[in-house]
Amino acid sequence: MVRWLRWFVLFTMLKVGSAQGVDSTLWQLVQGIHPDTVSSYILRLSAFGTRAYLSDSVQAARAWIGQQFAARMDTTFEQIFFYSNTQQANVIARKYGTDPSLPRLVVGAHYDDRPFTGPAPGADDNASGVALLLSLADLLSRVQLERTVELVAFAAEEPGLVGSTQYANRLQNLNDTLFLYVNADMIGGDADLANTRIIVERDEGGLPQNNAASYAYADTLQQMYAAYTTLATTTGPIYASDYMPLEAIGLVTLGVFEDHWNSTYHTSGDVIDSMDVGYATEVIRGVAAFVLTLAGYSPVEVQEPPQRRGVSLVLRAGPSGEGLWILAPERLIRMDVLDGMGRRVHTRTLGGVQELRLRLSSLPAGVYWLRFTSYQGHFWIHPWVQVSQRR
Ligand SMILES: [Zn+2]
Repeated sequence: MVRWLRWFVLFTMLKVGSAQGVDSTLWQLVQGIHPDTVSSYILRLSAFGTRAYLSDSVQAARAWIGQQFAARMDTTFEQIFFYSNTQQANVIARKYGTDPSLPRLVVGAHYDDRPFTGPAPGADDNASGVALLLSLADLLSRVQLERTVELVAFAAEEPGLVGSTQYANRLQNLNDTLFLYVNADMIGGDADLANTRIIVERDEGGLPQNNAASYAYADTLQQMYAAYTTLATTTGPIYASDYMPLEAIGLVTLGVFEDHWNSTYHTSGDVIDSMDVGYATEVIRGVAAFVLTLAGYSPVEVQEPPQRRGVSLVLRAGPSGEGLWILAPERLIRMDVLDGMGRRVHTRTLGGVQELRLRLSSLPAGVYWLRFTSYQGHFWIHPWVQVSQRR
């Protein structure tokens, strides 16, 4: 019996939506947040192997996030602190608004993960939230704002909201205040379920004086989801994530959280193919529309296509249906095949080719991503390559 290996490149379909009654420029901007890009962020973060707060690789993730911010935002810095005999850092970036008198809007997501020992890809919890931050950074690099927007990748959420507590303490010490804090923790849903609704989390307890404003902004965020995404919304209370220390010092907070709680969270099975990237993309689009609106955006170069890694690398199924045909704009020196969690399962030296045909018949069925490195030192990451075995 001959077993055929076939490659299928899955292209995520862009949803066609009605732009009636919405800001068409904003519509265009948020539709520019692409699932392939969201995938590449999640896979890159998963590829650190673990981002557990005591691991060495969480330090590499910290540096990588800082580099991503620095390439897109006006300023990037770290809030460094010590915890459990390790140096930890919240990675913070700002896009400055034209009106410095307006307090800034902050969006945050933790980048550490679980389990604390062993493989911890942490795709849904919480590479998905960090992908929201990076997608926002992409968008912010293409607009002007009246109000400053700050992005915070929090360290050490999992051992007990440590990074966000440090951040709240720093605000208090500096007598600093925020306009609003929006949290993203687990926005990828569950791959086995239909993910059609997002929970907009609002401040329903704690200090009473900041609840009404949280309710009002939750309403606005729900309207944004209705206007700019395909998602339905419901509301729930803020709970057990990085908004809690900020709520406790009186700030107005909001969050987004998946409606179907991903069953793999806090396990080594929290990989990208256990979540729903299309759903995460829609969640991100709603928050992006909300942030740009509240920050008083104006477009700078809407006509420019968004800069995406991998956009210029042509990769499609070969004519016979087996193998892939790859055309690169630069000479490639290496190709890595990584499994769904981002573990490298195969490496091939390419010796400066720009065109290659690829057959990886030894791979078992599954979802992989491909990473190419060029002579120029550029990376292309191509997610969503699925190998399936057929008779
Ligand atoms: Zn989390």
